[in-house]
Amino acid sequence: MKPLLDVRGVSKRFGGVTANADITFDVNEGEILGIIGPNGAGKSTLFDLITGFQPMDSGRVQLDGRDITGMRPDRISALGIGRTFQKLKPFSDLTVTENVMVGALAGTADMKLARDQALECLAFVDLLEKRNSFARELSTGQRKRLELARALATRPRLILMDEVTGGVDQRTIPGLVELVLRLKEQGVTVVTIEHNMQVMMRLADRILALHAGRRIAFGAPEEVRAQPAVVDAYLGTVADAS
Ligand code: ADP
Ligand code: MG
Repeated sequence: MKPLLDVRGVSKRFGGVTANADITFDVNEGEILGIIGPNGAGKSTLFDLITGFQPMDSGRVQLDGRDITGMRPDRISALGIGRTFQKLKPFSDLTVTENVMVGALAGTADMKLARDQALECLAFVDLLEKRNSFARELSTGQRKRLELARALATRPRLILMDEVTGGVDQRTIPGLVELVLRLKEQGVTVVTIEHNMQVMMRLADRILALHAGRRIAFGAPEEVRAQPAVVDAYLGTVADAS
């Protein structure tokens, strides 16, 4: 079976820093792929390269057999890859609905349709009751949901989620996990960067582990978690931090 997303030999340097070194992996249609790795491992950069927010130094990316390497972010979004950002940057003086409409308007010029789509996505992430609030009035967890709704409003077939459960109230995590599983049920393919190993084991069909810009493991969750390189590079540091 041909993968939905095929990433081959992707590399990126920032000055003397190797952010991504020859990273290869694929994502099958309908699966949830998890990405783990300590801070600075290159996870967010990998999303930037796939979605065209940063040019890659070498390598290529195919979506459903089509080469999207070097395309602009809006093109890649239009072809069906949505993403959330680790560093949230909602328009704080727009309402929640208006923020999500920004996502919807990438695909339609029809304001009524964009509003309907925005409200549908807000209902999906359980944020409808905040639709008339300003984005700046939301808690971190609510902003994460807003960011997810904005990304979903672009109607992606593949969504890249950067630390959706990061920094949110522990009690809201089960709800976020349910949300991702519902997305999968609806046929959306998911790649999720996630530090919470419990969440990861519940969600991921396969895991890609990065360390210092390199791929150190890729495969079934139990196998990846048990690999010495992963335990040393990642699980050790997570245990230290908690
Ligand atoms: P992660 O998301 O795994 O924490 P990042 O992809 O954000 O890691 O960062 C990987 C490395 O690349 C880090 O050393 C980071 O400082 C560096 N880096 C990321 N983005 C930039 C940038 N725009 N300019 C310079 N260095 C960057
Ligand atoms: Mg990151």
